[in-house]
Amino acid sequence: MAQDLPVLIAGAGIGGLSTAIALGRAGINATVLERSTFAEESGAGIQLGPNATRILRSLGVLDVLLPQTFRPEAVWLFDGLSGRRLATVPLGDHAEQRYGAPYLTLHRADLHAGLRTAAEAASAVSLSSGFDVSGIEARDGITIANLDGTTIEGSSLIGADGLWSTVRKWVAPEAALSYAGATAFRTLLPRKGLPAPFSAPVIGLWLSPKAHLVHYPVHAGGALNVVAVTAGGRKAQGWNQTADPSSLLSGFTRWCKESKSLLERAEGWRAWSLFSLPALPRWSRGAVTLVGDAAIPCCPISPKARRRHRGRRHAREIFRRRPQRPRHAFRTYENARRPRATRLKNTARRLGRIYHLRGPARLARNTALGLRSETATLRQFDWLYGVD
Ligand SMILES: Cc1cc2nc3c(=O)[nH]c(=O)nc-3n(C[C@H](O)[C@H](O)[C@H](O)COP(=O)(O)OP(=O)(O)OC[C@H]3O[C@@H](n4cnc5c(N)ncnc54)[C@H](O)[C@@H]3O)c2cc1C
Repeated sequence: MAQDLPVLIAGAGIGGLSTAIALGRAGINATVLERSTFAEESGAGIQLGPNATRILRSLGVLDVLLPQTFRPEAVWLFDGLSGRRLATVPLGDHAEQRYGAPYLTLHRADLHAGLRTAAEAASAVSLSSGFDVSGIEARDGITIANLDGTTIEGSSLIGADGLWSTVRKWVAPEAALSYAGATAFRTLLPRKGLPAPFSAPVIGLWLSPKAHLVHYPVHAGGALNVVAVTAGGRKAQGWNQTADPSSLLSGFTRWCKESKSLLERAEGWRAWSLFSLPALPRWSRGAVTLVGDAAIPCCPISPKARRRHRGRRHAREIFRRRPQRPRHAFRTYENARRPRATRLKNTARRLGRIYHLRGPARLARNTALGLRSETATLRQFDWLYGVD
């Protein structure tokens, strides 16, 4: 009987592993199929909002991660051209008390390693690497083909295979990614010896027309993760492209001395091209559904990590109630999650536009940011951080 087979999960990234742990904790067998061999765990820093850390705590993963994380005291917003500090958004104790869970930053590789250890320890979860999902056949259950022709059967399939998802092509073949015309560059710097304001225990966000810069501590505060987003660059697939520092610096020529000096300090830059995806007509088709970037990717100019774990608790609850009926479970999951995920995506777009304002609009933005109370800026995200 198909219902006795495991739930298959394509992709052992952040979403696939979280989903597998959640299902395992509910006593539902899950098999995770990952194309890579886990040898290369590249990537940059990740911000985990309280909505994400609450769920990691409920999955039993947060305590394992804490030693590698950093708890920033605030977000400091700067004007990238003048270098003027525009606003402070309190995090640290303030955010933890308000939302009942901490706001943390860490390296993606540390998050991935913690999730992987928890998934490997879960008796109902099995991980299979070197399995590149390339074909899907749905009858009573689901049959998945690896690139080498081998197959595996499951009761249902959850596509957690990221931005360039193969499962999405099966669920919504009409959906097409489009290049957003911008590139994100990332690097890590040792924090020791960095001048102010980069040495401060905060998230720094620098805004300017056509470019912005984000930095925050990772590796328990030992390193500073720096991400610089600028218009242009070539369109390419993958999170780990080699980057030409001169093409990065040319996007920041008009920037203030401090921010340029940070960019000039770094040696090894990596890059990824930004892609956007229109809203999918559906996230689920029969006993197949999508989570994470496969369903609704956000541009990195958005508050990305704040929505990392959307949907996973719902998926677990829904499965617990109706494990034999994945079709209904997936429809319920999609109906429950879509409005919030869509609101988040729209918020990310709006913030991206605000970051890059120019001329009088930039000056008006700077003035408005200065007038708002510190806590009011955080309060506008209550709907996100305060709700799972
Ligand atoms: C190596 C790597 C580095 C990253 N670095 C950054 C970064 O620096 N900055 C940033 O903002 N985001 C980065 N991301 C993306 C970020 O992790 C996601 O945006 C976010 O965590 C959402 O998670 P997800 O599970 O939906 O996708 P991901 O975390 O991207 O996970 C998708 C997983 O699916 C696997 N996969 C893909 N196709 C198949 C297939 N056909 N069969 C089997 N497995 C498949 C991938 O190998 C990957 O492990 C990176 C992702 C990866 C995989």
